[in-house]
Amino acid sequence: MRERAAWARKGEDVENAADTKATWLDGEKIEKILASCSQENAAKVRDVLARGKELKGLSLQDVAVLMGISSPELTSELYLAAKAVKEEIYGNRIVLFAPLYISNLCSNECLYCAFRKSNRAVSRRALNMAEIAEETRVILRQGHKRVLMVAGESYPGSGIDYVLDAIDAIYDVREGESCIRRVNVNLAPLSVDDFRSLKEHSIGTFQLFQETYHRPTYRQMHLSGPKSDLDWRASSFDRAMLAGIDDVGMGLLYGLYDWRYETLALMQHIAHLEERFGVGCHTISVPRIEPAVGSDLASSPPHAVSDRDFLKLVAILRLAVPYTGIIMSTRESAAIRSLTLELGVSQISAGSRTNPGGYSEESQFEAAQFQLGDHRSLAEVVQDLGAHGFIPSFCTGCYRLGRTGKDFMDLAKPGLIKAKCAPNALSTFEEYLLDYATDEARLAGEGAIAATLSGMEERTRRVSEKLLDKVRSGQRDVYC
Ligand code: SAM
Ligand code: SF4
Repeated sequence: MRERAAWARKGEDVENAADTKATWLDGEKIEKILASCSQENAAKVRDVLARGKELKGLSLQDVAVLMGISSPELTSELYLAAKAVKEEIYGNRIVLFAPLYISNLCSNECLYCAFRKSNRAVSRRALNMAEIAEETRVILRQGHKRVLMVAGESYPGSGIDYVLDAIDAIYDVREGESCIRRVNVNLAPLSVDDFRSLKEHSIGTFQLFQETYHRPTYRQMHLSGPKSDLDWRASSFDRAMLAGIDDVGMGLLYGLYDWRYETLALMQHIAHLEERFGVGCHTISVPRIEPAVGSDLASSPPHAVSDRDFLKLVAILRLAVPYTGIIMSTRESAAIRSLTLELGVSQISAGSRTNPGGYSEESQFEAAQFQLGDHRSLAEVVQDLGAHGFIPSFCTGCYRLGRTGKDFMDLAKPGLIKAKCAPNALSTFEEYLLDYATDEARLAGEGAIAATLSGMEERTRRVSEKLLDKVRSGQRDVYC
């Protein structure tokens, strides 16, 4: 890949159209594929499910075939196939993180969001560095090791510096021996230069949700501000990758337009990145629109996705991109989150607040971005995961060892990453149990660790036991 100068600012001439335009987004093709697969076809569905279980991913056409499923019988077969793939690749590990909202200032008019510029029902606030450090301390005291830093699209001071300082402030906090080991970010699109600065400040994943890939809907939903340009947003990952950020997180805001169209467009986006950079996305987030203060649209989304379709969607994604993590936030209820864990979700947030200052201060809701569906604390989520046979993981090993982007996928695709993730999940869970859990939770957790060890193949078990011994003898932050 050729290194480029700092040209990719909006409006400037560019060498590759894909750096500012969604050249790969082909709405007509999506419509055609959807029309050809609108009816359930049992033979085709079973053929696609059989191929899905081979862990090689699926084509757009295959995904559309699965979207046509309507009978309970084939729905069950889809769920079983997704569960098998999930277990094969991710075992019983679930990665945990906390969102950290640093600012709700915003210059955009996204009709579904409480932070939009003209909404006077929300009190505005950008945390200063001391406040960001205090939020980080509260998150650390819960036991978290990774955060997702989130902000609206308008930063106090000059340009990106506020964001860069905030990342440093989070990494700098020490609470006893503990610190945040990975800061992922969910921010507005940037130029190549600004992405390079983010990279220099050691971000983990750069996450950005396209919201909708359907051009007419995008125009209706984003009335003004920089975000009203679909192409600038949809080309963000190209610029991020040119700047050397190879872990990118995609997402959609389900409910704005037909979930089938959106998901096929997401597949086109992934295919484009794979073709151009040799790696697609590291994670996919699947938020559904939740009620938000001052937004009528958020209370009655134009294309609300039913629970049934939502579960189907998660299962289909699991088969379509088996090695891409699927993230489920606390927008969803505990019951839905629990079901999606079986079908494909590999990362969840817990104990979340979506208002700047929400962890340290009592007033939770007047500055929040949307309503939460799951209000449980991290401790409660951890306990519930254990009760359902999952191992909560606080691992940040891959990122710390530079196993990102294509390097990560090159290990994941032949099935080699499991031998790293499984021991790291156990050692970070053990840290959590020793440092943060109640006696009762520790007892249950130790039982879950023992059960997981006994089901492991010999070599991975030995590596896990070594890491566990280190943690039990007082070492922290050990990984392989
Ligand atoms: N401002 C940046 C942007 O829009 O890309 C980044 C942060 S924004 C706070 C994070 C995400 O929240 C948005 O991309 C959108 O998908 C989601 N969001 C906004 N309003 C929502 C709502 N009412 N329910 C659920 N998610 C919402
Ligand atoms: Fe601003 Fe992001 Fe909310 Fe849109 S979704 S109003 S850009 S914070």
